[in-house]
Amino acid sequence: MDGIVFDLKRYAVHDGPGIRTTVFFKGCPLDCPWCHNPESRAQAPELDVLAGRCIRCGECMLACPEHLAEPEQDGGLLEATCRHCFACAAACPTGARVVVGRTWSAAALMDEVEKDRPFFEESGGGVTFSGGEPLMQAEFLRECLRMSKARGLHTAVDTCGYAPSEALLKIIPHTDLFLYDLKLMDPARHEAVVGVSNAPILENVCLLHRAGAQIRIRVPLVPGMTDDAENLKAVAAFVREALGGAPAIDLLPYHAMAQAKYRRRGFEPASIAVPSTEAVARAVELLESAGGRVVVGG
Ligand code: SF4
Ligand code: SF4
Repeated sequence: MDGIVFDLKRYAVHDGPGIRTTVFFKGCPLDCPWCHNPESRAQAPELDVLAGRCIRCGECMLACPEHLAEPEQDGGLLEATCRHCFACAAACPTGARVVVGRTWSAAALMDEVEKDRPFFEESGGGVTFSGGEPLMQAEFLRECLRMSKARGLHTAVDTCGYAPSEALLKIIPHTDLFLYDLKLMDPARHEAVVGVSNAPILENVCLLHRAGAQIRIRVPLVPGMTDDAENLKAVAAFVREALGGAPAIDLLPYHAMAQAKYRRRGFEPASIAVPSTEAVARAVELLESAGGRVVVGG
């Protein structure tokens, strides 16, 4: 069984217990303005152009069957016309043109992950499937999880929760930990900001809770979008009342490191400030009304 993965991050320490290898699946049903991985949104592989690496050799121009490729070209300019054959990336000698997203078989992917087994064993870590939204490739995810457990690895799934309940139910037996995002509790605000209803997200986390799954709630702290007291108190109340509390909530302050990725795709990133130390402390206090511990950064 094959799936499309756009990155493997080794030695990850914020994606579950211990040292982990995080596998980033391509494709996401949400449209969060603060997304740190805009390259994850489309499910299909895409071209990225890192103009700083270009030596203006012209190999991409010669390779492109559509005569579209040019040195130092902005990736976003290609979107409308590029047919994603990636001949230019194959010809580029410096890695200025790269293909984001690669097809893996589940077995090959797990072989790659398993190279880090000594770190998992030493630290109590394992493998985390993230994205994008890993449940967008539900069958591939299930197979990777099944193989991980067969190899004795601890498994975590980092999900936005916007997925068919049946898909979620099927992975519970193979998933040791769910890292579950709660962004905005007000339905209208959720839909206005990220483009979809939060109803299935809230229903699914309750379903996981009832099924006895281990859940760690994650809350992105995004100034002007998720950081108001009303929203954070509502998250805390939901965790306390619907989920029976949580051993810990991960608070994930927004950072601006992805802005160049947006520009390379022809988008101006949303204008979002990085939260101040005081704003983070205030958010911790509000979330701790859930009765649990809040971990900044996960
Ligand atoms: S991906 Fe193909 S069509 Fe697109 S610019 Fe590169 S060579 Fe040309
Ligand atoms: S092939 Fe790569 S290095 Fe050469 S001009 Fe094209 S983008 Fe630049």
